[in-house]
Amino acid sequence: MKSFDIIVIGAGIAGASVAAHLAAKRRVAILEMEERPGVHSTGRSAASFEPNYGPAPMLAFTRASGNFFLEPPKGFADAPLLTPRESLFLVARGQDEAAERLVAKASELGEITERAAREIFPVLREGHAHRVFLDPNTGDLDVDLIHRGFLRMARERGAELFTSHDVKGLLHRSGLWQVATAQGIFAAPVVVNAAGAWGDTVAKLGGVKPVGLQPKRRSIGLIPMDSHPDVMDWPLVTDVGETWYCKPQSGKLIVSSADATPVDPHDASADDMAIALGIERMNEATTLSVQRLEHSWGGLRSFVRDSNPVVGFAPGHDGFFWLVGQGGYGIQSSPALGETAAALILGTPLPVDVLGHGLDPKNISPERLQP
Ligand SMILES: Cc1cc2nc3c(=O)[nH]c(=O)nc-3n(C[C@H](O)[C@H](O)[C@H](O)COP(=O)(O)OP(=O)(O)OC[C@H]3O[C@@H](n4cnc5c(N)ncnc54)[C@H](O)[C@@H]3O)c2cc1C
Repeated sequence: MKSFDIIVIGAGIAGASVAAHLAAKRRVAILEMEERPGVHSTGRSAASFEPNYGPAPMLAFTRASGNFFLEPPKGFADAPLLTPRESLFLVARGQDEAAERLVAKASELGEITERAAREIFPVLREGHAHRVFLDPNTGDLDVDLIHRGFLRMARERGAELFTSHDVKGLLHRSGLWQVATAQGIFAAPVVVNAAGAWGDTVAKLGGVKPVGLQPKRRSIGLIPMDSHPDVMDWPLVTDVGETWYCKPQSGKLIVSSADATPVDPHDASADDMAIALGIERMNEATTLSVQRLEHSWGGLRSFVRDSNPVVGFAPGHDGFFWLVGQGGYGIQSSPALGETAAALILGTPLPVDVLGHGLDPKNISPERLQP
C-alpha cells in the first residue's frame, strides 16, 4: 500500500491545477486512468478565455485567473498562455432577451455598429445581426501549455503522477481512504474527486452520494480557410443565443452549433449532424459557403443542476473532496479554481482576488445540492 497525504483522482486541468497548489504543502499522488493526462475534456476544448462567459462563480474564477495567464509564475511556460482575440456577439432575430441577459452580467462589453463589426469580421452578412456587442478582453488559451505547466509544477513540488491507474474501488476505514487500482492500493486521509465526467461514478465507488453530474456532448468541426489568408485576424464570433460559434485556429476556423446533448460519461466523439447545423448557421450569418470539413472532435462538458462547479468536502464523508462540474469554463477558470480548491482542502483563507470578484463560497459548496 502506497501512502500519501492527498490522492487526486483525475489528471485533467482540474486535477493538475489543484495538485500543483497542494503539492507545496502535502505529499500528493495523482491517479489517472488513461495512459497520458489530457485525453478527455481538457484535450478537447475550444481553448477560449471569455471573462463574461459562465455562471457567477465561473465569472469570478475566470476573472481572477486573467493575471495568471498573462504573467504566469517563472518557469511555468516558455511561451504565452493567453493571446488576445476579441469576441463578437451577434444579436439575430428573436434574441433580444438573450442580449439583455448578456449585457446585465457582462463587464466591459461595448455595442458597435454592424459596419464596425464587418471591419473586424469581413464575412459578416449584411442585415443578419440587428445589434452587435464586442468583448475586447477575450483570447485564445494554449491549453496544452497550461495543463503541462500545472503538471510540471506539481511534480517539481514532489507530487507523483500515476498514469494507467484506473480507480476501481474506494473504501474509508480508520480515517483513511483506500483507493484501489489494478496496480495496487493507495491510501490517504483525503481524496480529491477531479474525475471530470466520471465524478459521480467515482463517488459511488466510495458510497458517497452523487451530486447529479450530467455530462453534455459538444462537437467541433475544423474548416480549411485557404481562400481567407487573413482568418487569424478574425475575432471569435457567436450569437447571443449560443446557437453557433466560430473561431480562428492555426490558420483554419473551428465551428460548432454549441450542442449540449446529455450523455453518459464516455470517450466522446463528434456528432456530425450537430456540426452540420453549426455550419448551416454560420453560412446564414456570413458570406462563407462552407462545404468541407477537415477534421472534427467531440468532448464532454459536465454540469450539475445550477451549472455552478462543485468544490468542497462531501457532507458526511470525511476527507472526500469534490472538484467537478466545471462545464464549458474549466480551462479559463483553472488557475483560480485550483488555488481555491487547495485552500478549502488545507483550511487556509480563500484567495482574496476570487472573493473580490464576487465569489460566494456557498454557491460552489456540495452542501447546496443536498435535498
Ligand atoms: C468541445 C468543448 C469545448 C470547450 N471549450 C472550452 C473553452 O473554450 N474554455 C474553457 O475554459 N473550457 C472549455 N471547455 C470545458 C473544459 O474543457 C472542461 O471544463 C475541463 O477540461 C474539465 O476538466 P477536468 O479536469 O474536470 O476534466 P477532464 O479533462 O475530463 O479530466 C478528468 C480526468 O479524470 C480521469 N478519470 C476519470 N475517471 C477516473 C478513474 N476512475 N480513475 C482515474 N482517473 C479517472 C479521466 O481520464 C480524465 O483524464 C470545453 C469543453 C469541450 C468538451
